[in-house]
Amino acid sequence: MPELPEVETVRRGLAPVMEGARIARAAVNRPDLRWPFPARMAERLTGQRVLALRRRSKYILADLASDETLLIHLGMSGRLLVSGDPLGRFVHDHPAAQKHDHVVLDLDSGARVTFNDPRRFGAMDLFATAHADRHPLLQKLGPEPLGNTFGAAYLAAAFKGRRMPVKAALLDQRIVAGLGNIYVCEALYRAGISPRRPAGAISAARVAGLAEGVRTVLIEAIEAGGSSLRDFRRADGELGYFQHSFDVYGREGAPCRKPGCPGQVRRIVQSGRSSFYCARCQR
Ligand SMILES: [Zn+2]
Repeated sequence: MPELPEVETVRRGLAPVMEGARIARAAVNRPDLRWPFPARMAERLTGQRVLALRRRSKYILADLASDETLLIHLGMSGRLLVSGDPLGRFVHDHPAAQKHDHVVLDLDSGARVTFNDPRRFGAMDLFATAHADRHPLLQKLGPEPLGNTFGAAYLAAAFKGRRMPVKAALLDQRIVAGLGNIYVCEALYRAGISPRRPAGAISAARVAGLAEGVRTVLIEAIEAGGSSLRDFRRADGELGYFQHSFDVYGREGAPCRKPGCPGQVRRIVQSGRSSFYCARCQR
């Protein structure tokens, strides 16, 4: 499942292709993904220029000249493919239509953006840009972890008095937007904090380290995604999936990588999801 860095990588790959381009033709090949598509979606997209491509949490938001915004959510298995970009960032010819190509946008530049999603947990919606903050998927989201609001002071205030495990607190999208299981495990490891520790019982200094850890793991992953984008000339035009190396995620039983730590990575289940951590250096 793509997390925030993967979605940001997709956004950065799409932005030079879509921003400023006009949607010459929109094909919507089924009535729904996870939810029904909005009424007359193809018609409302056709002819519209894309003014800006933004990201909020794990949602890509394309602001259109019609004062509407197209929301794109990749869900579990959604992929965006770019083909036929005349400026040569994506030199691939348009591929033959594939099964699960649900939405195809042909831009006036000659580029094509295809949304393919075999499992259909993805979503698209179209709504007035001015009302974006009130959209049901967006209105309850906390601050962006890479934005100006998020930081040591914010996180300390958000954790105050909370007995829930810090792992659950960081996954709560109302506290901070866009964090998923993988990067929460990695951030807690960086900060040396056990995923089981009650959020409200962490000292201010350690909360500050955690806020820093969250930002660092995300920034490093986005940089890794940027490297993968530069390799696209020999890739197939698919955006956003790249090789990661994680310190704890998926490394159950492996030795801890912190210098001098004799611990092993352990896996426990919290709220039905795996937490990977080192019980020696995460307290
Ligand atoms: Zn350790």
